[in-house]
Amino acid sequence: MKNDVAHYISQTAKELQPSGIRKFFDLAAGMKDVISLGVGEPDFITPWNIREAAILSLEQGFTSYTANAGLLELREEISAYLGTRFGVSYNAKNQIIVTVGASQAIDLAFRAILNQGDEVLIVEPAFVSYAPLVSLAGGKPIAVSTSAENGFKVTPEQIEQAITEKTKAILLCFPNNPTGTSLNKAELMEIAKIIEKHDLLVVSDEIYAELSYDETFTSFAAIPGMYERTILINGFSKGFAMTGWRLGMLAAPKEFVEAMLKIFQYTTLCAPTMLQYGAIEALRNTYHEVESMQRSYRRRRNYVVQTLNNIGLDCHTPGGAFYVFPSIRATGLTSEQFAEELLMQEKVAVVPGNVFGECGEGYIRCSYATSMSQLQEALKRMQRFLETKGIMPRAVTGITSQV
Ligand code: PMP
Repeated sequence: MKNDVAHYISQTAKELQPSGIRKFFDLAAGMKDVISLGVGEPDFITPWNIREAAILSLEQGFTSYTANAGLLELREEISAYLGTRFGVSYNAKNQIIVTVGASQAIDLAFRAILNQGDEVLIVEPAFVSYAPLVSLAGGKPIAVSTSAENGFKVTPEQIEQAITEKTKAILLCFPNNPTGTSLNKAELMEIAKIIEKHDLLVVSDEIYAELSYDETFTSFAAIPGMYERTILINGFSKGFAMTGWRLGMLAAPKEFVEAMLKIFQYTTLCAPTMLQYGAIEALRNTYHEVESMQRSYRRRRNYVVQTLNNIGLDCHTPGGAFYVFPSIRATGLTSEQFAEELLMQEKVAVVPGNVFGECGEGYIRCSYATSMSQLQEALKRMQRFLETKGIMPRAVTGITSQV
């Protein structure tokens, strides 16, 4: 073997950049008393009935493979769930795959639809996985930048400007990570017109659908004319507090599902059996818990947005997910400088906005999926940090504990 191990690594792997989120969190690792507003996962433990169902399946000895697409019983529950919650109809037999997280569903979607050099529009700021997954599938990610002026809502004009003859698809994610932005039905319908006009496919990442606070969530597949061209991605991680289970779902017209299933059967075979039993229970009997988590996130969102604005950081009110994306421009620091200095000075971890795309520069992502007392302490520390930068609270009351 040669001394230079890098010699053996593929060009593709060499070119892939490590996630900006991870890179930053290595800094926080090992520090004591850090409050993390960095992680993108619920602070709730998976409801007990779901855990119990998975345990029971093990006790009963359900330890073999399932069908590639997942237990039919689970696909039937998914079909019913998508139908009753979002008004979209998918046949459990040939239009649904149970995947290893929404992450894998996104990967499958790109691998099934992209030819070498096909362009995929990604509305930025965006979740860090999309662009690398497009590249791994041989495609070319094209950023469509949005801005805080209109709450990071993408406009049909912004999309149309980015379209070329190579554009094959667009990735949409509402409510959004990292901005929390949601689009309502009327706004989605405007985007649909452009998609129809240019004959694009849509990969719709609806992982935060259950965390919509102000308006009823609209699935992109439910927009007239969009069902045929949409690969719908959802999962259990966020709404059901099941990140570690690694269970997601995709639903699409059957020709797309056939193509994705071919790839899935060779790479994965099927999602873990006992966890699929837990997921059946999640969809059957957990809705009241999902709603109670929603209410808790909504209260925290209101508190965090109000307090950030009070302490001097402009922050729009996001319609969903569990992130806020305030501007840190007033400090004169870059996003990375702000995040690093805040961590070193006050031991609060946030994610610099630029890791979600160039237009995220000047912002930070804070997750409010953490306890109210931790949020209060983190915001006190942030206020102290801002004061050292000459930014004083706007409201006489400073930090409010009103939720
Ligand atoms: N999409 C978005 C927008 C996300 O924020 C995440 C998780 N951070 C995922 C997909 C991946 O979810 P899963 O745990 O289901 O793979």
